[in-house]
Amino acid sequence: YIDHRFDPGQPVPLDTDQSHYLSTVMRLAPGAEIAVFNGRQGEWTARLLQAGKRGGTVEPVAPAAPQLDPPDLWLVFAPIKKARTDFIVEKGAELGAARILPVQTDHTNSERIRRDRLQAHAVEAAEQCGGTFVPAVEDLVPLSRLLDGWDPGRRILWADEALVGPAETLAGLPGGPWAILIGPEGGWSEPERRRLSAMPCVHRISLGPRILRADTAAVAALALWQASLGD
Ligand code: SAM
Repeated sequence: YIDHRFDPGQPVPLDTDQSHYLSTVMRLAPGAEIAVFNGRQGEWTARLLQAGKRGGTVEPVAPAAPQLDPPDLWLVFAPIKKARTDFIVEKGAELGAARILPVQTDHTNSERIRRDRLQAHAVEAAEQCGGTFVPAVEDLVPLSRLLDGWDPGRRILWADEALVGPAETLAGLPGGPWAILIGPEGGWSEPERRRLSAMPCVHRISLGPRILRADTAAVAALALWQASLGD
């Protein structure tokens, strides 16, 4: 992944990690052909011009595969322990979330996130699964503020542990922009439940008869949504 515009014959820079990976781990020499993407222009073939300890450059040669953008699905979740939050972002990117929004809820105990670190996980996940799109990971905001400015045209799939029972089927729900909403380890507060219940764009769902950990719930809800409403 290289965050630069690609034009044939116009060299683009590699960062030091990428350069180290290509030269030392993959043992590629100048002239080697690699695949690159920037999240906007699909996959390109590129020629390695130079790679060393202090960075390197590649020359994009030609487009190889078209840009594949995911459906307009956001993943909104309350961050939990660091490694589990990393996991949620990674799986969100793999399972085709277009945007990832960490939110502070009444029972969230994580006050801060490292947005840059989470964004790097999203990039790695996109590289690993051969995608050409990297979801943007946003800064932590209070859920109430996010809901204050909510576009009612974007439906919310609200996973509520109070509804444990048979898992829902999403068949028959309309397409268009959606957001999946996953709570923290402490679950939803009553004021949050009241507010979400009063929003016409919210669909409250069960993810099955057991209470899932938040990271498992995120994966389950993403898979459920993609199976019914994804491309
Ligand atoms: N502390 C809560 C309790 O004991 O009732 C459990 C919270 S659960 C670990 C974290 C989040 O995952 C929930 O807020 C919800 O969004 C989602 N979740 C977990 N299991 C679920 C289920 N069976 N149905 C719907 N949502 C679920």
